[in-house]
Amino acid sequence: MADNTAQAADPTTSAEHLHADVVVVGLGPVGLLTSILLGQRSHQVVAVDRWPAAYPLPRAVTFDHEIARILNTVGIDANNDPSIDYHDAIYQMLSADREVLSEIDWQSTAADGWRNRYWFNQPDLEERLRCIVSTLPNVRTVLGYEAVALEQDATSARVTLRPTRRGDQAGADDALSEIVAEASYAVGADGANSFMRNAIGLEMIDLNFYYDWLVVDVVEHETHAYEPPHYQICDPVRPHTIVPGGPGRRRWEFMLLDGEDRETFAAPENVWSLLAPFDVRPDNAELQRAVVWRFQARYLTEWRAGRVILAGDAAHLMPPFAGEGMCAGLRDANALAWRLDLVLRDLAAPDLLDTFGQERAPHAKWFIDFSVGLGEVICMTDPEAVAQRNVDMMASHAEQAKIGPVRPYDATLGPGVWVPDTPGAGAPSAQGMVAYDGRVGRFDEVVGRTWSLLTTVDAAHEVDESTKDRLHRMGGAAHTIGPEHSGADMIDVDGTYTRWFADLGVAHVLLRPDFYVAGSAPAGAGITAVVKQTATRMSLTTGLTA
Ligand SMILES: Cc1cc2nc3c(=O)[nH]c(=O)nc-3n(C[C@H](O)[C@H](O)[C@H](O)COP(=O)(O)OP(=O)(O)OC[C@H]3O[C@@H](n4cnc5c(N)ncnc54)[C@H](O)[C@@H]3O)c2cc1C
Repeated sequence: MADNTAQAADPTTSAEHLHADVVVVGLGPVGLLTSILLGQRSHQVVAVDRWPAAYPLPRAVTFDHEIARILNTVGIDANNDPSIDYHDAIYQMLSADREVLSEIDWQSTAADGWRNRYWFNQPDLEERLRCIVSTLPNVRTVLGYEAVALEQDATSARVTLRPTRRGDQAGADDALSEIVAEASYAVGADGANSFMRNAIGLEMIDLNFYYDWLVVDVVEHETHAYEPPHYQICDPVRPHTIVPGGPGRRRWEFMLLDGEDRETFAAPENVWSLLAPFDVRPDNAELQRAVVWRFQARYLTEWRAGRVILAGDAAHLMPPFAGEGMCAGLRDANALAWRLDLVLRDLAAPDLLDTFGQERAPHAKWFIDFSVGLGEVICMTDPEAVAQRNVDMMASHAEQAKIGPVRPYDATLGPGVWVPDTPGAGAPSAQGMVAYDGRVGRFDEVVGRTWSLLTTVDAAHEVDESTKDRLHRMGGAAHTIGPEHSGADMIDVDGTYTRWFADLGVAHVLLRPDFYVAGSAPAGAGITAVVKQTATRMSLTTGLTA
């Protein structure tokens, strides 16, 4: 992928040593995004994966609005990207008789301006992220090497990397071409069977949720109309899912029943017979992959041990019923990068890194529980329980229908760098178009990934000099925001911020570099204290705690 890929060491010398600020182990979507976000902040990164190329087969097919927002900050615009699409339709859970059990609003736009659901092919997204990595000269990729040993002390973490051995290479003298990557911090983004997690002795809690599902990915040569485009058939005879898989692709998932043999079930003749009712045949579609996957739910409560931090599937695993596993991992990367940035720049003490897992673990767990809850409904096969489920769900759907489909879910962060009991805190911020400093665009694009205190013009006098100074020490700034001609230094072009402040009942909102709200205050209610509390929670090293 990159010019900056490390070469194997000279076999006649001892191990090559690489030095960096951060070594990222694992270049799935989470390790790639972490490397990009750190690289874009000018840190030296060694980014390692055991394989020379990205995992070539589809896994995740959908992400939510928050991920679209994050990807946009690294140059992937989900609304206008040829490898990503969306559908103006709700998601339906249907009974075997096609009665509607539940409808989830996957068609509306979220408060951050992005659509609630997008569809894509994971290898394409990883390829895009790899291309972005290759543009960052301070990110050095080491591909075809696996982490085999980890040590750490008070000043650094050292990861020993060994050329990945294929079956035909047994007996090669790997020690001669080892690389030792030494860095201030090591990030374990090495997936479900994480070496890094095992090396620091952390064990996942297992919710004992196990179901085997056949996952089928198809490239279609003929256009089929799927109405709706994404749905779930909660049929006890064979629960199954039909969703898009990104442009030109479709994903089916079929649950295996007790006693069914994984290999026989995944055999092409069986797969084509499962697809036949959808008019998908060998002459109008290509079977890209059919594999039985064990859906499971496991998580860590501690995400850091000294200089080693875990993220993505290394820290949490969930069944894909809500399409949120990778999303949780990309949120991890976004939440970790700004913290590591401040710690590496000595603006915050390493304690700040503890707040990463404290915030993220309950958030990811919320999505694990949500996915398991969906799975428990979807995977039912007992006819009596299914009949009762259908009655209950249809009754609650009839009630819900009076107000519209169920809105997409929102989890809140665990305790960390945000001030509880202030409106909107711990959740992603709204986003609208702003005009500022000669630029007009989405707030994230115009202002960027930094701390921002937004204040209405009327309350501007409440932002005192010590608050401005404190924000400056956090790497951010204070802005007034309001309509054109209001005297605000940032113009609220489409009125988003005026409406959002009114909904929250506040005059000040403090935004973090990952776009979450750290705190807020109505006029006269002490924004100074909110900023000060936030700075304290960040373990800032740069004074001004008074
Ligand atoms: C069938 C299925 C459907 C899914 N659908 C969705 C969905 O629709 N939406 C969604 O959000 N999520 C979905 N997911 C989950 C999503 O695919 C994962 O959460 C995501 O891939 C995790 O990313 P990661 O970077 O943490 O780990 P991975 O993608 O697993 O990447 C880990 C990387 O680490 C490397 N590695 C491992 N060990 C070492 C080592 N010792 N040294 C060096 N490198 C190493 C591996 O080669 C790999 O490249 C789905 C998953 C499955 C299985």
